[in-house]
Formats: sequence, C-alpha cells, structure tokens
Amino acid sequence: MKADHPVSGSCLCGKVNFKIAELLRDVVMCHCQQCRKQTGHLVAATRIHDNSIELSGEEHLTWYCASDDATRGFCKHCGSVLFWKRINTDTLAVMAGSLETPTELKTISHIFTKFKGDYYEITDGLPQHTMSD
Ligand SMILES: [Zn+2]
Ligand SMILES: [Zn+2]
Repeated sequence: MKADHPVSGSCLCGKVNFKIAELLRDVVMCHCQQCRKQTGHLVAATRIHDNSIELSGEEHLTWYCASDDATRGFCKHCGSVLFWKRINTDTLAVMAGSLETPTELKTISHIFTKFKGDYYEITDGLPQHTMSD
C-alpha cells in the first residue's frame, strides 16, 4: 500500500464523490451478516482518517445504523454503499469498490468469517478471523 498516494472515488451515479489524501490500511473483507445484507455479498474496505477526505455531494448521502456502535453511509439515489463508521472514532472505513483504480491496495484479511454466507468458500489463503481483527 502506498499511503501517500491520493485516491478518488464515487458512488455508481456519481452524485457523491470524494478525494482521499491518505489511506491508512489495506483492504479487509467483512463477512458479517450486516455487511452481507447491505451489500448483497460482503464488504471490502480500506480505512482513512476523517480529516483526509474531501467529500462532494454530501447531501446525497444517507446514513443507516445497523447496530448501536456503527453507521453505514450510502447514496440515496443509486444505493452504492460507500462508508462504514464506528461511532465516536476519528476514522472511516471506505468501500474499496468505490475507489478509482489504480488504488495500489491489496486485500490482507477476512473478518467475521463465522458469519459468512454458505454459498462460497474463502480460498485466497489470507488470514481469516472468526470475529473482528
Ligand atoms: Zn449515487
Ligand atoms: Zn461486517
């Protein structure tokens, strides 16, 4: 991962778009039921500091709290899942699929594999955590 490499991203319809100055972490895949339900499969996300994102079209963003400790940001027009935020932290998870390539990111691990769907296997040899990392 090249943390000093600025990345841009957007939702599918383009009403929400953003530039990120610095990525803090490579991509982690979350197999929990909330991520699976929201995305139709699973979440693949990098992480950033709140202050490293320049967001435009914020009025098109909607947040949904699936649990007491986190909220999920998505475009209210096209439904693209963009962000996941643990409440009372200063970082934000950003969905890797929303970023323009090349991201220079790599997938590093899987979390909440205990809750993964039964219709696929994880075969990439990366570390798997039954709960969070
Ligand atoms: Zn959109
Ligand atoms: Zn999850």
